[in-house]
Amino acid sequence: GKVGYADKAFKIFESIEKRDVMTYTSMINAFGLNGMVYEATDLYKRMPIHIQDEITHICVLNACSHSGLVDQAYAIFNNIQVKTEKIITTMVDCFSRMFMFDEAQQLIDNFELSHPPCLVMYMALLSGARNHRNLTLSKKVYQRMNCLFPDNKQALISASILLSNIYSSIGEDQQAKEVRLNRLNEIGKNRIIGITWTEHNGEIVRFKAHDRSHPQSKEIYDEIARISTELMKNGHEYDSRWITREINDDENIESILCGHSEKLALAFNFIQKPIPDIIQLTKNLRICGDCHSAVKSIAKLRQRSILIRDTNRFHYFDKNGQSSGLLCPIAGLDLATHIFAPESQLESLVRFCHACINMNEQPMSTFLASTQACIGLGQSSI
Ligand SMILES: [Zn+2]
Ligand SMILES: [Zn+2]
Repeated sequence: GKVGYADKAFKIFESIEKRDVMTYTSMINAFGLNGMVYEATDLYKRMPIHIQDEITHICVLNACSHSGLVDQAYAIFNNIQVKTEKIITTMVDCFSRMFMFDEAQQLIDNFELSHPPCLVMYMALLSGARNHRNLTLSKKVYQRMNCLFPDNKQALISASILLSNIYSSIGEDQQAKEVRLNRLNEIGKNRIIGITWTEHNGEIVRFKAHDRSHPQSKEIYDEIARISTELMKNGHEYDSRWITREINDDENIESILCGHSEKLALAFNFIQKPIPDIIQLTKNLRICGDCHSAVKSIAKLRQRSILIRDTNRFHYFDKNGQSSGLLCPIAGLDLATHIFAPESQLESLVRFCHACINMNEQPMSTFLASTQACIGLGQSSI
């Protein structure tokens, strides 16, 4: 069942005599990732306070946040003695996800009374505003980011993309275009092209957005057309909010989004014989929202599990559309040592969005070893 793995983990947890911060935190995180928020908070409350650390607090806050229990999160937050930047950021993110922007702003204001401004907090606020299609707030946050972080070009590009997405989503295409062009002119042509890597017969294959350089390019695009038809038949609507550039005359929303590198790499996997049981992709940027929802449907329609690692997290799309147990994709090692893998410490808290890896599934060490080398993600010692 859905909670099978967390139950199993809990049995192991209970059998451990000397529980340390890692054991507790891993278990709290395991509950959180499986949507067992009451178990997570309960265990958190039973955990000796003196061994709770920053990561423990973040895990329990995330557990509440992802289940929409903002009051509970805030109550816990208020009881935390030492509120670090990352803990406050987690709370700002939680408020922003629930569209409680005043509360989020209040936290940021308080934080800035005694600290330099923190970029991640503003990004959390802005992406909340984007999801809420709140133009006024988005503009305000974007302007503020321009003042506060003038030298952080990469962050400002991401922010401008979020802002122009909002303009597009409310039909203000001209404005959307201006925001993008202004930003691009300011920073020059430093746009990062989306790249996805996948593995075939032990070799790494690389796709850029709209790539036509692969020898099987024609088959790949034919396959994408088939996938696209299936997707639309099953209710997928291409979401123009994720288009971050101008649309040329010979393009449309579908063709642009279908040219994203992760979709090309995915189609490439589907023209293999046999089609891999688990399809693994690695992307150099964050996966876009359209690819995210498309891949979720494709996994189900085509009955293949798909694992995508982007710069932010692992996304595991189960072919049965359900979450099935919990383990980091570096499978085969035990929960406690792996909850925080592959990168070390905090940053690295591996956050699965909907599902996690089934314990019974094959270890994916090859996936990680090869793709990590490609994009230089994480200094994993594994
Ligand atoms: Zn995409
Ligand atoms: Zn995801």
